[in-house]
Amino acid sequence: MTEQTLDKEKAIVVFSGGQDSTTCLFWAQKHFEHVELVTFQYGQRHDKEIEVAEAIAKEQGLKHHVLDMSLLSQLTPNALTRHDMDIEQEGDEMPNTFVPARNLLFLSFAGALAYQLNAKNIITGVCETDFSGYPDCRDSFIKSMNVTLSLSMDKDFVIHTPLMWLDKKETWALSDELGVLDYIRHNTLTCYNGIIGEGCGTCPACQLRARGLNAYLEEKGEK
Ligand SMILES: [Zn+2]
Repeated sequence: MTEQTLDKEKAIVVFSGGQDSTTCLFWAQKHFEHVELVTFQYGQRHDKEIEVAEAIAKEQGLKHHVLDMSLLSQLTPNALTRHDMDIEQEGDEMPNTFVPARNLLFLSFAGALAYQLNAKNIITGVCETDFSGYPDCRDSFIKSMNVTLSLSMDKDFVIHTPLMWLDKKETWALSDELGVLDYIRHNTLTCYNGIIGEGCGTCPACQLRARGLNAYLEEKGEK
């Protein structure tokens, strides 16, 4: 067997069509010559998420892999995968949008895809700073996962997390720096109610997104 080194100019972005992963898409395009996207389909609250991801991929002329992860909904009867439940979060408790081991699974599959495509770089928009508190979004988990992926396939992968230490305001600042603030503002889907762009304005995801955007625009003197 001949050893093939991974292509360091190739990157896979874990992509949902939301603000964070779309910012990562543009970040990746700035840093790598060849970017491809992977979206996981797992009975999202809105199939619209997949449509939005596909539309953005097409517009950017990027190869888009949509992988079926519907088995996740067998394990998690909660608000993101079951359409008949409301999203709630009380105090410091884990929000009921939590899907156990979701990132562990997603990154494993992204790693397997990176192996197939001979891509060295995997990019994910996870971050420690937002409200989520999901354990598999933490920096320590990502570092551990990086080692695990590399060991499991005997390849030197690099997982990049450009948003890890940014709050929502700083994520908007990054998109502005990349020249895509307006694009992200109007074309991505973060809203739990499936409304593109500014969203419904009342769900927790919309509130978080709007707070960050307003804070950034205020700082810039545009509000
Ligand atoms: Zn909303």
